[in-house]
Formats: sequence, C-alpha cells, structure tokens
Amino acid sequence: MRLSRSLIPTLKENPADAQIVSHRLMLRAGLVRQTSAGIYAWLPAGFRVLQKIAQIVREEQDAVGAQELLMPTIQPAELWRESGRYDSYGKEMLRIRDRHDRELLYGPTNEEMITDLFRQSVRSYRELPQIVYHIQWKFRDEVRPRFGVMRGREFLMKDAYSFDLDYAGALRSYRQMMLAYMRTFQRMGLKAIPMQAETGPIGGDLSHEFIILAPTGESQVFYDAAFEDIDYSASNFDHTQDADLARFAALMTTHYAATDEKHDPDVFASVPRERRREGRGIEVGHIFYFGTKYSKPMNFTIAMPDGKLIHPEMGSYGIGVSRLVGAIIEASHDDHGIIWPDVVAPFKAAILNLKPEDAACTELCEKCYAALGNEALYDDRLERPGVKFADADLMGHPWQIIVGPRAAAQGMVELKRRAGGERHELSLQSALEKLAAHA
Ligand code: ATP
Ligand code: MG
Repeated sequence: MRLSRSLIPTLKENPADAQIVSHRLMLRAGLVRQTSAGIYAWLPAGFRVLQKIAQIVREEQDAVGAQELLMPTIQPAELWRESGRYDSYGKEMLRIRDRHDRELLYGPTNEEMITDLFRQSVRSYRELPQIVYHIQWKFRDEVRPRFGVMRGREFLMKDAYSFDLDYAGALRSYRQMMLAYMRTFQRMGLKAIPMQAETGPIGGDLSHEFIILAPTGESQVFYDAAFEDIDYSASNFDHTQDADLARFAALMTTHYAATDEKHDPDVFASVPRERRREGRGIEVGHIFYFGTKYSKPMNFTIAMPDGKLIHPEMGSYGIGVSRLVGAIIEASHDDHGIIWPDVVAPFKAAILNLKPEDAACTELCEKCYAALGNEALYDDRLERPGVKFADADLMGHPWQIIVGPRAAAQGMVELKRRAGGERHELSLQSALEKLAAHA
C-alpha cells in the first residue's frame, strides 16, 4: 500500500478519551475509529491485523479437527425462549422487532442456534463427536463499554461448540480445544495462562479463562511462571492421543494459576518465589463444559446403538478475536508506539522514502515496493523524514527499510528492526534477502 493514498490516519497527539495504552495506540496508529459508543470501524491497517489474528485462530481450530461454518448475527427469539435464556440474559442482549413484529435479537453468543442446527440433522451416535466454530460479530450492550476494542459492544469472537455422546467424550473435546487455545496464543507471542473460572450465566461445571498479564487488565491474577516455559506445539502433544491429552491436562492443572476470586495465598506461597507472578490480567478466551444444559431443554436427542435416546454433552469455547488486537498491543509496545509480532503485523515492512523528490531515492523505493508488494507499506508522502520515522515507529512494522538520497545513489538502504532498534546499512538486495529469510 502507498501511504499517500491510504486511509491510515495517524495522530501525533494522544486522544483525550483513551485511557489505556492499546486504545491510544490503536487510534494514533490509524487502526480503528469509533462510530458509536463501543462500536468501531476497522480501517485498512487495523483490519489486516484482525484478519491475521482470525487466520491463526482458524488454523489452530482446524488443526484439532474443528469445522468452520458461519451462523448469522441475527437470531429468532423463539430459540432463546426454548433454552430459557431469552428472559434471563438481561439488558446486554439487543432485542429487535422486524416489520412483521417478529422478535429477533443480535446474537451475543450462539449455543441455542448451533443446538438447533444439530438437532435438525444429526440423529445417530455414528455422527458424533463433532466440533464446529465460526468467527462472527457479536453484540452485547455492555453497561460500560471502555478501553476501545477491549470491551466493545460489537466485537469479533471465535466461538466453537462441541457435541459428544458422553462425559468422557466431552472431556476429550474440552482438552483438544484447550490445547488449540494454548497453541493459538503461543503463535501470537502471548503468554496466556489458563485459570479455573466460575461458569457464570452460561452454566456448567468445568471452565477455564485464558488470561494475559497487562497492567490495565480487569482482574487480579496469580500464577506460576512454569506455564511460560511449556511448548504446546504438535511435536509435544498429539491431539488425537488420549495419553497426550491427559498429560497436557495434568500440566495445565498442576502449576498454580488463579484469578482473585479463586486465589489461595497459602498454596501460592508454596510456589518458589522466583516463579511467582502476580498482576492484572486480560481475559482473551474462555471455555466451558456444560453437559446437557441446552440439548435437554431444546430436546436434541441422539439414538445410541441399543436404540436408547440420549441428550448430547456440549461445551462452548470463545476467543475474543478483536480484543486480542488490543491485548497484543498491551503486551508489545514502547514509548514510541506499537511493536507488532511478525505474525500479526499489518505490514511486514515499511519503506521510508526520505526524499521523494530525489530520483535515485524514489527509483530504489519503487524497486523495493515492487519486490515486497502487498506486504509493504510504502511511505511515499511528501513529509519530513522525522514525521516518517515517528509514524513508522508508531505503526510498529517489524521492519523499516529506510531509503535516503546519499545511500540510494550507491544502491544502499538502511534496514531497521523495530523490536530491538538495530539498524544496518546494506544493499537493497541483501535487505530483501534478510526479510525473506526471517519469514
Ligand atoms: P468478560 O468476562 O470480559 O465480560 P465474558 O466472560 O462475558 O467476558 P465470554 O462469553 O466468555 O465473555 O466470551 C468469550 C471471549 O470474548 C472473552 O474471553 C473475551 O475475550 C471476548 N469478549 C467478551 N466480551 C467482550 C467485549 N465486550 N468486547 C470484546 N471482547 C469481548
Ligand atoms: Mg468469560
């Protein structure tokens, strides 16, 4: 993308209404703009990040055998009356009437709808287990939308639903999802810690929240740093092997981790001092097992080999895809701006043309831009170098290719790594090779 012709409206000053660093940086880097309280438009650079995060989430869901589908945002009230949640859900649910006076709602979650879709066509034990998921916008009329996309009213969630014949199956699905979650966060460079959670309005008795440390988090958390050293990749845990899943689950429950509601100072004190971590945490995911909470009232039955009918055991599994954009920034920034992990950066590199009116400079930049294509943001604006340096640091591209007139005459550029700040002068060719090798 050419910055001169992009809708990436960076801001020099901190917006007065943004209280936390990720919110400030998302506005300043031109990633999002608020359109109503707690509702945001994702501008081109922000949307690229959102899509990259969604893609990692998708790949890790697919890797454990979950199937992607897409359910609508608008749901009929009748389904929620069947489960009893239409009245119990409260004011967070946006209730709507259409022109025929039919009651609808903008989905805050999809347990009822997925249970309905399954009961329409899945009848036999031979068709289970299954896990399905979608990545879809949700609406919750939060009392206090705040912190930008962290607690919005409209937000993007990945929600998955598992259907099993018995508790043993449901437990396996739960563990597979939990493993997929740890891999998802690991790939994004986040140290997310699974914590035993209250099951809340969705119900059930097995539940974990996935929390990352950040000073602006909404809950106080305590955990053993041993979690940070575990490698969750497929070579370590095979999701198809029950023994691996059991070993994984044991590991997830032996090390200490708790939010303030469940914190036990005496047990925490037995964690070696140098491994004790305490701070504020952001919830980036939440998983539940809830048995037949929906299949029973909604009368979803499955015929077993002996002809007996049972209600399938279910679980649901959420990741805050749009919240993750803010959470990653909370975890990775400095005084100058965002420091994107390579895998979610909107652009791999920025090309900074320090003197657009210089022929050699512009020629080299164009060559570089042609080579990198869509993965580069080309700062071709007629601005002072200082403005370009500041904006590139603010936007947080993993690499900057800085092209000034003196070096350009020799075919040389400067390559800067945003994370460590190291700068090296080298030929354009070597710079491009270095970037390619890093991928
Ligand atoms: P919270 O405790 O933060 O209110 P929740 O427990 O109501 O969240 P879940 O129903 O578990 O949320 O939703 C799954 C995930 O969706 C959460 O872990 C969180 O990452 C994300 N999420 C929930 N509410 C919001 C929101 N208002 N804005 C952005 N993301 C959200
Ligand atoms: Mg939750």
